[in-house]
Amino acid sequence: MKHPYIPYGRQYIDEEDIQAVIDVLKSDFLTTGPKIHEFEKKVADYVGCKYAVCIGTGTAALHAACYAANISTDDEVITTPMTFAATSNSILYLGGKPVFADIDPHTYNIDPLEIEKKITNKTKAIIAVDFAGQPAELFKIKDLAERHNLIFIEDAAHSLGSEIMDSKRTWHKIGSIAHMTTFSFHPVKHITTAEGGMICTNDPKLYEKLTLFRTHGITRSPELLMDKSHGKWYYEQQLLGYNYRLTDLQAALGISQLNKLDDFIKRRREIATIYDKAFSESTFKNKITIPYQASNTKSSYHIYVLKFNLSVIGKSREEIFNKLSDLNIGVNVHYIPVYYHPYYQSLGYSKGLCPIAEELYEGIITIPLYPGMSNEDVNYVIKSIKEV
Ligand SMILES: *Cc1c(COP(=O)(O)O)cnc(C)c1O
Repeated sequence: MKHPYIPYGRQYIDEEDIQAVIDVLKSDFLTTGPKIHEFEKKVADYVGCKYAVCIGTGTAALHAACYAANISTDDEVITTPMTFAATSNSILYLGGKPVFADIDPHTYNIDPLEIEKKITNKTKAIIAVDFAGQPAELFKIKDLAERHNLIFIEDAAHSLGSEIMDSKRTWHKIGSIAHMTTFSFHPVKHITTAEGGMICTNDPKLYEKLTLFRTHGITRSPELLMDKSHGKWYYEQQLLGYNYRLTDLQAALGISQLNKLDDFIKRRREIATIYDKAFSESTFKNKITIPYQASNTKSSYHIYVLKFNLSVIGKSREEIFNKLSDLNIGVNVHYIPVYYHPYYQSLGYSKGLCPIAEELYEGIITIPLYPGMSNEDVNYVIKSIKEV
């Protein structure tokens, strides 16, 4: 008999979450209402930033951040190829040019030295991703950005609840370090609102732009109006924004999910520890590399990525992947280097740009990790990989 399918990631929804959404359905506001502000305040308090703006998706969060960073035609933005396409797509939305800098071979995060090599007089911003939950070298990158007068955007879709230690040995939650930090609440992420995202910042000017961008560029706020000669009905469109609003239904779900975030992360770390231990055993010596954990960071483990040393194992990645799939394990590959995609190839990016990312891509497989996963599921995954 086949083991029931184990996905690579999955949401965790309980009765409290369901009731929170039902309560909003019975209330006066289905979209922008009191839950939006409550959710924003809760996330801001959790991550330790001044302002948080919730928005329709994690991709919209990146789009808004690039807009607020003033990215426009021909501006260059340095980013990592080891990410979901949305990271660099957000640059293209505004006519900017993604410039891919190679990754560090241990953390799989963008390498600050590679960023520095790519800075030109057209560079406007840097977008780093905290791969799998492992924070990028945020303080180094921020320092680099400020020395070159660049905006630093952190795509933290993988790292809600992750932490990093500064040079004074103080720990910081992800969300208050970069000029803007974006989160995603897609169901495979740490908490979910079905679709949803958030941008965190400490800068009041960026905050203002982000909120306008979310709602068509329109404001009715008396302090923000440029023309104050009209009556109370008056509203003003000041820039070209979108309808990127999150609903109150989603915000209520987000609030309820956020109450469980620390438990979710605790369980993710427990599972990662079991995996780390199992794949460090002598059976896997020189065959499998487990995720790197820097001593100055604490990952919240969005995904668990194993690197297979295929020449030692004597099998192809496809063979391993297919066998695990056949065993009903929801394996995945994070990520195909972004510029491998036909769309990016059509823009003129060629293979060979980031050799470390390309080499990594050849050997990686993401195995299941989510809070609702039982120890039995975890052991089945480990046993299956041993077998294969
Ligand atoms: C999930 C994800 C996004 C996009 O988030 P959505 O909410 O799905 O739009 C962006 N960047 C990274 C690294 C992601 O993992």
